[in-house]
Amino acid sequence: MDFLPIFLNLRGRVVVVDGGTSTAARRAERALEAGAHVRIYDPEPEASVLALNTRDNVDLHRRLPEADDLAGCTVAWGSSGDADRDLALLGLAKAAKVLCNVADEAEQGDFITPSIVDRSPVVVAISTGGAAPIFSRILHARIEATLPVAYGRLAEFVGGFRQKILDAVPDARMRRHFWERMIDGPAGDFFLAGNLARAEAQITDDLLTTATGGENTAGEVYLVGAGPGDPELLTFRALRLMQRADVVLYDRLLGDDILSLVRREAERINVGKKAKDHTMAQESISQLLVRLARDGKRVLRLKGGDPYIFGRGGEEIAELAEAGIPFQVVPGITAASGCSTYAGIPLTHRDHAQSCTFITAHGKDGVLDLDWDILIRDGQTVAVYMGLGSLGLLSAGFLERGMTGETPVAVVENGTRPSQKTVTGTLSNIAQRVEKAELKGPAIIVIGSVVTLRDQLNWQSLDRTAYALTLDVARPPE
Ligand code: SAH
Repeated sequence: MDFLPIFLNLRGRVVVVDGGTSTAARRAERALEAGAHVRIYDPEPEASVLALNTRDNVDLHRRLPEADDLAGCTVAWGSSGDADRDLALLGLAKAAKVLCNVADEAEQGDFITPSIVDRSPVVVAISTGGAAPIFSRILHARIEATLPVAYGRLAEFVGGFRQKILDAVPDARMRRHFWERMIDGPAGDFFLAGNLARAEAQITDDLLTTATGGENTAGEVYLVGAGPGDPELLTFRALRLMQRADVVLYDRLLGDDILSLVRREAERINVGKKAKDHTMAQESISQLLVRLARDGKRVLRLKGGDPYIFGRGGEEIAELAEAGIPFQVVPGITAASGCSTYAGIPLTHRDHAQSCTFITAHGKDGVLDLDWDILIRDGQTVAVYMGLGSLGLLSAGFLERGMTGETPVAVVENGTRPSQKTVTGTLSNIAQRVEKAELKGPAIIVIGSVVTLRDQLNWQSLDRTAYALTLDVARPPE
């Protein structure tokens, strides 16, 4: 290690910033956030530095710093943008025995200014030793993305229980487990979800059990929507809970690239159902969730799309609630939204559709039980889930009730995945085209004039092969 990271206490101390640039302003701002008194030196400061002059604890001097200016200061930053001037500051600082950082010249200065992810009081500082700042920028973005915004406040919140826990749980190992459960378990989750009362109740409850010698092994369930397939469409929270699971129950539709993001050690259970071959009946999934959680496991119920849109999420959760198992639900991008966007089709559009209706068309004995009157109205988009098998029935139904045969329709198969295919047509020919294209699903059917916008808005390069296919199947029969 070339540089040792430390966190400086600057409260009430003096800091010198030499420079009038935006970098200088940033350095000064950080120091102010840490409670320092900042002296800025520059003959002609830029606007960002001038703006700081109105702040408390800032003295702006319109000249270069001199030897006496460094007396009594704790650290100095050379951020003038002029290498010679920065080196001159370094000389002054050395003489005054003040730690000095020189922008862009890490090796010459006494310390490096790290890139910071601030979730105060939790602060992450990143440095690449000055070697390749781009690494630090990329790492910074990743950490920003994975650390919940309220993480710092969570640290403060649990910190408030320190004395209570120390008194109630004398055993150090048990205390560590308790802390882990608190931060990375239901209490922390309740807090991050904004439910302070439940977070507190959870801690008090757990503390009581632990203090009376019992072991709190309560598990929990995360019902998580994984989106339609592209792992990039996962939410931060989905990813965080996926990384925490002891066991995952997933459906057939879920792709391997999403599953590979679940914690490697987690046990994997496929509860997927093909239409006929029921790998597992609905009742027993709920029972399994309850049993695993009672065993103390963190159970991830991972579902395609959004768990509350044609995902039976509500049914699975009802049993958990009844059994008193803590759970949380994470929404996901639903197939209609993901697939249509990736196929270049907006679901609503001022000139085409003022509303969008999601339906399922799971035909039973050749009959579709749908509210046709509502569905054939103008000015809307209808997105159909589970409708590929009854596409013929569906288009016939629309035509019978007076919808024009020219109504545009798109069928998006494997939407948002590398294998995405889109077939477009009209109500009168879509069934035939889809049959010719041999789509197998999963597929979303989008009905309405928004489909015509696809020619303008198809940005998704994934679908280029599909576009060729569309042209192919669109060719009139010889
Ligand atoms: N809860 C899910 C829907 C489950 S129902 C959601 O919110 O998306 C299963 C149906 O969703 C499939 O029959 C298909 O119509 C649709 N579907 C799911 N993923 C899809 C994908 N990647 N491409 C096209 N359709 C998809």
